[in-house]
Amino acid sequence: MRKTNKTTSKNTKSKKTTSKRVAKGAKTKAQRRTRLKKIGIFGGTFDPIHYGHLNSIETLQSALKFDEFFVIPANQNPLRVNSRTAIGDQRLEMAQLALSDQERFSNVHVLTDEIERGGLSYTAETLRRLTSRLPGCEFYLCMGADQLNVFDRWRDYRKILSLSNLIITTRPGHEIATSKSGLPAWLQDELKSFRYPIGKLKTNKTIRFVSLNDIDVSASEIRRKVRHGESVEHLTPVANYLVEHKVYAPEDRKIDDYREFAKFCAKIAIDRGALNVQAYDLRQIAQPSEFTVVATGTSARHTRGLCESIAKEARDNFDIFPLSTEGLQESRWVIVDYGHLIIHVFFDYVRNEYRIEDLWAGASRIELK
Ligand code: ATP
Repeated sequence: MRKTNKTTSKNTKSKKTTSKRVAKGAKTKAQRRTRLKKIGIFGGTFDPIHYGHLNSIETLQSALKFDEFFVIPANQNPLRVNSRTAIGDQRLEMAQLALSDQERFSNVHVLTDEIERGGLSYTAETLRRLTSRLPGCEFYLCMGADQLNVFDRWRDYRKILSLSNLIITTRPGHEIATSKSGLPAWLQDELKSFRYPIGKLKTNKTIRFVSLNDIDVSASEIRRKVRHGESVEHLTPVANYLVEHKVYAPEDRKIDDYREFAKFCAKIAIDRGALNVQAYDLRQIAQPSEFTVVATGTSARHTRGLCESIAKEARDNFDIFPLSTEGLQESRWVIVDYGHLIIHVFFDYVRNEYRIEDLWAGASRIELK
């Protein structure tokens, strides 16, 4: 039943030879001997795997005809250390379940490498190991357009570009420029030449953009919906698994009183020098959460620090992790989502710009000491 591999599938012989190049038998043999196997690699947290991922995998498979395609769930994304993920084994199991259709995903394998390795998951390290384990292969690291802008924050991203080609797919909400000047600065620096959708990198690898029939779904949206008891069957093939195994439910039970938890988080913000900290009970008005805390940081760094302090204290005192944390990168408006409580931390003037408190005009304010 399983297609999980630490190593790789045994059946890796190429099924294809290109007739164009089959002029002489001897030459074909030589070519067969030297042909590099094309390996697609798709990393991520897969918390949980969803139809956006499957759409990407299927489109990439048919567009690029990989010999093998590895889906590699990360143990811990180094850029998201403060958010909890479903445990690794569950994320693996869900990925296997979603990819178990042998016809659709015949040469797709879920690799356990990063989860088994534990700790922070660095793609450069995973690639380094794969390239030495699998000589004679050409690697293609696939990712959605959202990752393109932050790729230079990945550890050893230049090393990655020397070990693997890059494939970038479209993703709703993330524009892809078709001219070199519109691409992120790090990529412009790495390009030798570019003619959309293909670029040649200075490492002699390539970058290629692939358009999907986009499916607008994210794992964080699924986690949020499950948390609020909404159906996610249209978003992920593992909806039943999530319910049966209560994958995103246990956190709820750790907090008896979210009003007190809101006050706790507000106090952390006040103690760390946040300005104008307010907490609201939203139960009388229609809002996605029952409570909210809003605070202002004096710089992007302070804003980020406030969110990290709250997440750390919440974890240490209640063993609870946010369902998601959005906006940490720019730290203009960071949203820390604990399901029944959502915390907004703004950088200075940005709070006035959005006037988010207007939304809570009918809510009652929670007194903070
Ligand atoms: P989260 O909402 O928690 O950030 P996610 O939905 O982005 O999660 P990941 O597991 O972080 O999922 O993503 C793994 C890879 O899949 C990334 O390269 C990401 O860009 C890509 N991806 C995720 N969702 C989509 C989608 N709807 N369309 C195309 N690519 C996607």
